[in-house]
Amino acid sequence: MIRINESFQKLQNSYLFAEISQRIQAFQQQNPTQELIRLGIGDVTQPLPSVCVQAMHQAIDELTSSKTFRGYGPEQGYDFLREAIAEHDFQARGANIAADEVFVSDGAKCDVGNFQELFAQDIRLAIPDPVYPVYLDTNVMAGRTGVVYLECRADNNYLPDLPKEPVDLIYLCFPNNPTGASITREQLTLWVNYALENKALILFDAAYEAFIQDEDLPHSIYEIEGADKVAVEFRSYSKTAGFTGVRCAYAVVPKACTAYTAAGDAVSVRDLWMRRQTTKFNGVSYPVQRAAEATYSPEGKAQVKALIQYYLNNAAHIRAALQRMGFSCVGGDNSPYIWVQVEQDAWGFFDFLLNEAGIVCTPGVGFGPCGENHVRISAFNRFDKVQEAMLRIEAALKNSPL
Ligand code: PLP
Repeated sequence: MIRINESFQKLQNSYLFAEISQRIQAFQQQNPTQELIRLGIGDVTQPLPSVCVQAMHQAIDELTSSKTFRGYGPEQGYDFLREAIAEHDFQARGANIAADEVFVSDGAKCDVGNFQELFAQDIRLAIPDPVYPVYLDTNVMAGRTGVVYLECRADNNYLPDLPKEPVDLIYLCFPNNPTGASITREQLTLWVNYALENKALILFDAAYEAFIQDEDLPHSIYEIEGADKVAVEFRSYSKTAGFTGVRCAYAVVPKACTAYTAAGDAVSVRDLWMRRQTTKFNGVSYPVQRAAEATYSPEGKAQVKALIQYYLNNAAHIRAALQRMGFSCVGGDNSPYIWVQVEQDAWGFFDFLLNEAGIVCTPGVGFGPCGENHVRISAFNRFDKVQEAMLRIEAALKNSPL
């Protein structure tokens, strides 16, 4: 008899986006002429930077000639991309990361989801609440249950406090999805020191790094002294360069980073990840890696910057408009997400925006219990739509005050 991994049955139903689309469908049936403005899901809307398109075209042309054809590439990524990443994303910011510590992949989702495979079943986890659901769900699938939730609320500025009980694997995400909160150098140093003192490991998800504007904020955890011993960092081109459909990301696993056997012997995490990736992953396509590389040319950097500015301009408009309407919000300054505190329950406010304004947001409670009384508004849309959305919300509040 073929038996299942029963841990899958312990997963909470991922009803969030299914429930959202059901409610949208019901609304559209009743209001077939009302145009919805979607500020819910975190997918980009602007086209790819032209440098990426050109690089991809050129790479495809290379594949059409037997002289320049390429088959399987290195599982960890081509050197041209790994070197560009190490130089531009890390060394340029004083973080001493080498090209052979970079592992190119087809998404930060897979990387953050897969990384837990390297560790023992009975490790203690620290996972923020609210947060990107992949961290918890992939651990539940793997049969892990010992989770310490790091609560992020208005009263701690949505930044998790250090755990009171010992933990071994810590997930951090900054700039944060869903709250949009960012972490200062001092606060990140506390986490790195905690990991150093407790022989813990931090999985630092920096998928939204490109949105950081504040000069004082760290872009990488490796800007913090000692982090190379205790942290793995994840980055993605999805939001940086509009690659949600193209698929390219990377994980940084420094050579100094160690985890331990039950007997207490140190083992290189990089070696484990290398073994895992070369066994289960066959690399990202050549044209896509060329497209990612193109983001580091002077022209590429300018185009990426313009793309990010476009969304940040949306975010600033949303945040300012909501604050004018009296809402308390965070995010939107170094992040494409605005986290809005609401008086009623998150689904109640979602329904209000949908039914009274034709706006789709994401109920905060879908990211964890601390997301109750909050909604996430995403800046991924066209500016004219964002402007109209804010006018509609203002009018809805006047017509039927909450
Ligand atoms: N990490 C966070 C925090 C995200 O919000 C997302 C996507 O929404 C990802 C990772 C996934 O990125 P990718 O598209 O590279 O899989």
